[in-house]
Amino acid sequence: MPSATPTMEDYLKCIYIMIQRKGYARAADIAETLDVQRSSVSRMVQKLDDKQYLIYEKHRGFILTSEGNRLGEWYVYRNQMLKRFLETVGISEYHIDQEVEGIEHHFSADSVKRIAGMIKYFDENMDRVTRLREIQYSESNDIDN
Ligand code: CA
Repeated sequence: MPSATPTMEDYLKCIYIMIQRKGYARAADIAETLDVQRSSVSRMVQKLDDKQYLIYEKHRGFILTSEGNRLGEWYVYRNQMLKRFLETVGISEYHIDQEVEGIEHHFSADSVKRIAGMIKYFDENMDRVTRLREIQYSESNDIDN
C-alpha cells in the first residue's frame, strides 16, 4: 500500500523528533525518514519558515521556533495516543503506524484528550482489556466477519 503524501503536520512531527534526539534536523534526514524527494523537503521547509515554525541555521540544519516546537510536540503526542488507542482495541502492531499516519490529522485536541482518558481506563485494570477481548472474539461479535 503506498503511503500518503506527508502533510505539514508530518514534517513538524518528524523535525520535532529529530531535534529531540539530535538537537537539530537536516533536510537529507527528513527526506529519508519521510521517503520524499529533497525538493519536497525544501518546499515544505520554506512554508514552515513562512509560518515562522522553524529557523534555518547555516551549517547546522533547522531548529523549531517555540510555536513550531509546541505544534510538533502536540502532533507527536496525538500520534502516540492514537497508536495506544489502536493497541488497546487490539490492532496488530504491523498495521498501527500506517493507520495512524492516515487518521491522526483529523483528531481534535478534545477527541485526543478523551481517547487518553479511555486508554487510562483500560491501563488501570487489565481485566478490562481481557473483557474487551472476550467481547471482540465472542461468536456474536465476530470481528473477522
Ligand atoms: Ca500522518
